[in-house]
Amino acid sequence: MKLIMLGAPGAGKGTQAKKIAAKYGIPHISTGDIFRENIKGNTQLGLKAKGYMDQGLLVPDELVLELIMDRFKAPDCKDGYVLDGFPRTIPQAKALDEALEKNNDRVEYAIDVDVADQVIINRMAGRRACLNCGRTYHVDTLKSKVEGICDYCNTELVLRDDDKPETVKKRLEVYHEQTQPLLDYYRKKGILHSVDGTGDIDKIYDEIIHILKA
Ligand code: AMP
Repeated sequence: MKLIMLGAPGAGKGTQAKKIAAKYGIPHISTGDIFRENIKGNTQLGLKAKGYMDQGLLVPDELVLELIMDRFKAPDCKDGYVLDGFPRTIPQAKALDEALEKNNDRVEYAIDVDVADQVIINRMAGRRACLNCGRTYHVDTLKSKVEGICDYCNTELVLRDDDKPETVKKRLEVYHEQTQPLLDYYRKKGILHSVDGTGDIDKIYDEIIHILKA
């Protein structure tokens, strides 16, 4: 199964993407996580991406496409994947379609996790991330077992630079301008499904699973 998670930054698509990937035994591919891993590892790609990310801007399409096309070659992608944070622009969506069409393949579902901007701004201010394993928590709604410490790797949790309120506002602007047009793009293909992303995490997940089974 090849599935795309759409939605504004902070809509909760990453949380859902991980759960779906685990259920179907396919990889969860987050371009944001790949960039963050590269930043942590001080790679060339990380250095190039960091400047854009810290300002809330998108990393140029060429860089994103290079890394994602490379990721698709890994053996774990043979039965599909859940894409989280890619595509984020129309050129990226077209490049993905073209790459899949070469193998007579296509994206089957685009799931839009819909959340209003103001809810996102409030959410992100409370989001805490583990820069070691990439897991995210929330100070009110998804607490770690020990405050400020990652449940899985014991690393101290932080407010990511790109989750700071000024950056979040910029990221939302960028989302509306460059990523929201993808909703129409996938609607026209007949594969767009929207879910209300403001409820309980498990209920949203159940709704998505229902769509995937239908
Ligand atoms: P995320 O964790 O998905 O919100 O991504 C964090 C940041 O990584 C974004 O604000 C962008 O700067 C960059 N990024 C991630 N995925 C993409 C993409 N598909 N295209 C361009 N930039 C991206």
